[in-house]
Amino acid sequence: MKKHTVIKLLIAFLILVTASTYWFTLQGEAQTSDVPASWWKKDKDDFPELKGGPEKFERMKRQQPVDLNTLQQRYPDTFILRGPTNQNRIALTFDDGPDSRYTNQVLDILNEYNVPATFFLLGSRAVAYPEIVERINNEGHIIGNHTYFHPNLVDEGDLDTLEREVTRTEDAINNIVGYRTSLFRPPYGFLYNELVEKLADMQYRVIAWSLDSLDWQEEPSDVIANRVIDEIEPGAIILMHDGADWDGDRTFTIEALREIIPTLQAQGYEFVTVPDLVGIPYAK
Ligand code: ZN
Repeated sequence: MKKHTVIKLLIAFLILVTASTYWFTLQGEAQTSDVPASWWKKDKDDFPELKGGPEKFERMKRQQPVDLNTLQQRYPDTFILRGPTNQNRIALTFDDGPDSRYTNQVLDILNEYNVPATFFLLGSRAVAYPEIVERINNEGHIIGNHTYFHPNLVDEGDLDTLEREVTRTEDAINNIVGYRTSLFRPPYGFLYNELVEKLADMQYRVIAWSLDSLDWQEEPSDVIANRVIDEIEPGAIILMHDGADWDGDRTFTIEALREIIPTLQAQGYEFVTVPDLVGIPYAK
């Protein structure tokens, strides 16, 4: 084949590909616009997402980069796993809120049983739902910092990202409740030495947990409740979630609380906030 014939064929092929791509794009747009706006806009676009991905995917596919116990031993003054084990006091903690679907229901139950808790909020969601943040604060719960967009701090592990995420959230919370929290919980529990040291420089204590309810796996409520009740120990810091990604479901967490709280109270446990449990200030 002569050279110019090859070039002509090539040009014809490129025109064909471009035209068909354009045609398919038009078809795609036509289909999207047929879907009612109320259906596809509602949850996903308006709701601040977890930047590092849903807990259930991130935490299943990865191991803790540095084990929580190891970090606690390396940084005993900064990194907290549990409270004193010689008292029957324990702390409920809730991550990833405020969530307009679930946080108010969690607050209703805590109110019913007169139980204070500690909420680790996302800055992006605090800004989106300041009225829920006010309610958390007004009802005697303590608020901590859980970053602004919930990144995986080990994947995006530079100190600038950490500082930006933490400071922005601290400012957002302070604007609503009027104090600068000194409690930080890392998304997915992912941290390493330099990040812990940076948080200590920023006058934070890192609040991890000693009992993971694994509620992010969205198992039936009795499975979640039994796990917590079976594994409870004096001084426990219990990890739960009032927030989820737009397609996540925390109904099981809420139902489990109705079982967990009265059962543990009947066993003589007292629920307190994390700063009360550990004996540290909650604000800078
Ligand atoms: Zn989280």
